[in-house]
Amino acid sequence: MFKKLVSLDEAKQIISKNFSPRPVGKESVSLGHAYNRILAENIVAPLDVPPFNRSTVDGYAVKAEDTFGADEDRPITLKLRGQVRVGEPPKVTIEKGTTAEIVTGAPLPEGADAVVMFEDTIEKENTILVHTSVSRGENVMKAGSDIHKGETALRNGQMLVSYEIGVLAALGIINVKVYKRPMVAILSTGAEVVEPGKPLTVGQIYDINAHALSAAMIECGGEPINLGIVEDKRKKMKATLRKALDMADLAITSGGVSVGPTDIIPEVLNTLGKPGVIVYGIAIKPGKPTTVAVIDGKPVFSLPGHPTSALLIFQLLVRPIIASMAGRPAQKPRTIKAVAATRMFAARGRRTFVTVHLTMDKAGRFMASPVSLGLSGAITTLSKADGFLEIPENQQFVDVGEEVTVHPLKPTVHFSKFFK
Ligand code: AMP
Ligand code: MG
Repeated sequence: MFKKLVSLDEAKQIISKNFSPRPVGKESVSLGHAYNRILAENIVAPLDVPPFNRSTVDGYAVKAEDTFGADEDRPITLKLRGQVRVGEPPKVTIEKGTTAEIVTGAPLPEGADAVVMFEDTIEKENTILVHTSVSRGENVMKAGSDIHKGETALRNGQMLVSYEIGVLAALGIINVKVYKRPMVAILSTGAEVVEPGKPLTVGQIYDINAHALSAAMIECGGEPINLGIVEDKRKKMKATLRKALDMADLAITSGGVSVGPTDIIPEVLNTLGKPGVIVYGIAIKPGKPTTVAVIDGKPVFSLPGHPTSALLIFQLLVRPIIASMAGRPAQKPRTIKAVAATRMFAARGRRTFVTVHLTMDKAGRFMASPVSLGLSGAITTLSKADGFLEIPENQQFVDVGEEVTVHPLKPTVHFSKFFK
């Protein structure tokens, strides 16, 4: 039996007393490797973007005031003085009464302050008839109008996705400082667990946890190191956990934390260093056997063997810690208000997490229905779920029609089923 289950809130407090998650370091990466990394510096623009006044259309560079009064029936005539090409400095200057052909993206020649579109002109023997008037700055993107030289274009803590990588490229920056990814050693336990790809014999199952947890690690900014499947033998387990702690910033195990004869992890953890096991069982469902240790400053999260429990506990307890170690700013959890579609029961005295899927009723309200309640071993539970809801320790059930708060498990795109 577990000696003393602590509540989820107590477990979180005990963990934060024994371990403060901090970014594990910074490193420089090239633009090509910056995707999905967290910026560890402010980026101050070394130049204007665009770097010069640039035409946004194909047409003729003009002095705007030369075109004033021109319209469909009364064109004004300008002398054509040449051409401005992209990628090179203009060779012409626009004086009063003159113009030069210009293409999209080419620098505005000196003297010009606007561009007339080709469609509004007619070329006639080295002169251009302009059939419209343009105002100063029309069809011109001014130097620095996108990003000003000296402006802070990106900030420490921002995640770099396609848009931010575009900004870095626009500024000519090819290397950036980002937060190092915390290295997370992952190991599975149990004689029945087999690496996917190998043949299965009766009684064996594939290792779901190591692979699902590796992916979950990447999702929150960690770098998984899969140490494979360890048999429930003390000596081997101790050696593998020692290796895990030597090479990684934290370790995650799954299985071997219940009360069966092969559930040796808590005992082995206590032989590895101080303070050892700090949480041994949490009053939650699923995930009761969850065990947490800190060994010489590094945390070890020993999750239950059931994949759904392991992944849910990962979300609740481990994800925020890895995200902080990865330099990700703390985020307010996103939640969705829904209505319970059926009555959902809690486990007595334990905070209960019910995985739910959402539908929308005629009035446009989200309705939450449980996904196979109680089958904590079924991996499909989470892949079918949209999120989970919490029933507090002191509540017996959530009644049908009651308003509930759903914590989404997946990015919003998953909810696209609700949008036309
Ligand atoms: P345990 O706590 O080790 O008794 O594991 C609880 C249940 O989860 C057992 O049915 C195990 O076979 C299963 N289990 C343990 N580890 C894994 C794993 N890595 N992948 C899939 N199932 C597992
Ligand atoms: Mg086991």
